[in-house]
Amino acid sequence: MRVHRNSLRGLCAASAATVIANFNALSEDQEPVSLVPVLYEPCSVELVTPSGKNLNPDNIVINNCALRVAILQLHAEIAELLGTEDFGLRVSGGFRYRDGKVHRSASNNSIVDESAEYSQHLVDEAADIVTKGVPFAVMEAARKKTPFAYGYFKLYEDGHYHVSFPRTATTKTLFERLNDRG
Ligand SMILES: [Zn+2]
Repeated sequence: MRVHRNSLRGLCAASAATVIANFNALSEDQEPVSLVPVLYEPCSVELVTPSGKNLNPDNIVINNCALRVAILQLHAEIAELLGTEDFGLRVSGGFRYRDGKVHRSASNNSIVDESAEYSQHLVDEAADIVTKGVPFAVMEAARKKTPFAYGYFKLYEDGHYHVSFPRTATTKTLFERLNDRG
């Protein structure tokens, strides 16, 4: 399955119900290449804080509007806990797609090594984040006040955090459609 970054950028979800509705609207013989853009509807939320801080300077592809909002929320909760916005937070990883047996970043089409078979990056429910000047305890406390609270959370050896939504019936449905068509 090939995905072109320009066709993805700026697309994201209005709601889980819409996602399912869009899936159901797909005809069975539709080309797999059409799958990804219909996962999520166009989203006008930019990954920029109210004060103008750009949290996605590398233009990592994240289509899911809810995911963008949650990242902005995470930033706001950290700022609240630290009492300042003088810290770094940027997205370093987002949407991935299947290409045969490998997973590729939708941002630059590079192969992502050791991407889990059912990684939530494949359904745009996970993001990788790099921070600067944010103690782990603060990140952990802030995360618990966001939709990432009950999702998978991990600090990797290279210093990036993985945050994700809890897996739900919607997640399962999204994966089923990927399996059908991937
Ligand atoms: Zn990740």
